[in-house]
Amino acid sequence: MKILIINAGSSSLKFQLLDSNKKFKALYKGIVDGIGLKTCFIDAMAKSKPLKYKKIVKNHEQAVKEALKIIGDEKIDAIGHRVVHGGEKYHDATKITAQVKKTIKKLSELAPLHNPPNLEGINACKKLLKGIPNIAIFDTAFHQTIPEKAFHYAIPEKYYKKYKVRKYGFHGTSHKYISDETYKLLRSKNKKIITCHLGNGSSLSAVKNGKCIETSMGFTPLDGVPMGTRSGSIDPAIVFYLMEKEKINSDKIDHILNNESGILGVSGFSSDVREIWAKAKKKNKKALITIDLLAYKIALHIGAYAAALNGVDAITFTAGIGQNAWYLRRDICKYLNFLGVKLDPKKNRKNEKIIHEKKSKVKIFVIKTNEGLQIAREVSKIVK
Ligand code: AMP
Repeated sequence: MKILIINAGSSSLKFQLLDSNKKFKALYKGIVDGIGLKTCFIDAMAKSKPLKYKKIVKNHEQAVKEALKIIGDEKIDAIGHRVVHGGEKYHDATKITAQVKKTIKKLSELAPLHNPPNLEGINACKKLLKGIPNIAIFDTAFHQTIPEKAFHYAIPEKYYKKYKVRKYGFHGTSHKYISDETYKLLRSKNKKIITCHLGNGSSLSAVKNGKCIETSMGFTPLDGVPMGTRSGSIDPAIVFYLMEKEKINSDKIDHILNNESGILGVSGFSSDVREIWAKAKKKNKKALITIDLLAYKIALHIGAYAAALNGVDAITFTAGIGQNAWYLRRDICKYLNFLGVKLDPKKNRKNEKIIHEKKSKVKIFVIKTNEGLQIAREVSKIVK
């Protein structure tokens, strides 16, 4: 079965065509970047051949048309769409009906930057590829197993009832993929693991016997550990204090916490860990404190999740930072010695898949995430 994967963002559309009969090999993949802007860059691989060009692409429908031009006359059997917010309604991949579209639209209130473009991608595919099943894979779905004590905030319950204010968690497709791959390495699903997706956006999940029981992102993707430009968890009173002191409105404080904080905020010069590390090696103070703060806050979350799981068998790192920043993994694991974590420095330095020492009580892995493959796997289960 050939499955088209669509990840539609506000100004970009990523696509892949995977063949389930060839171990989900990606036959085509690419990005249409700059939708609605003056120039749009199309960067693709068509049967292992690179393809790059510029064009004006006005909307998501045109972007899907570009993707289909690149894919040519290849038969498409099903389409999988990444949808960021599935609210409390969707626990699994779901065939997209008119009702599902309505719910995704309604959930735009909770994900105003993501669900509307996701829906545009869906509408474009429904129009251009008639009769082919469209499946939604929700970023929130994997976290729907977290218990009430984990998803409720300690605020009056009426706000949960009225507005569905609760923890949802994000990056679910990546956490699901990484936890499944970790279980394969452990050769058992009867294990307690902590998955650390550390990229431009970062989140951690505690997974017990295949089910997510806790995750670090919350009502929105702003919560949890510090990220590229997002603050992660802070004392909520800081919000009112800064609004008062700086005479700023909610849009401005939202911008500060989402776009000016995190690694960028602490370092004062970059949101990219590669640039922070380059300066840390030269003993730049701001860079050193940024690395230390990141490692510390991530380790705190891991410690808390070890408590939530009542033990931990494996910790897996993934995404841009998790897969590459060996110095951060080293520093995080130093804080975790009390759990019996022992890293093999050479294996860690080389970003190998298995990076713990033989004697380590907790296994430590580095696994490349593959959300496209996870989406394709879930689509193929539904569309037979
Ligand atoms: P992602 O969201 O998974 O694409 O991750 C993007 C982030 O990963 C970048 O902003 C960098 O901070 C980080 N990153 C990417 N490559 C490296 C690398 N080789 N070493 C350290 N950090 C990296």
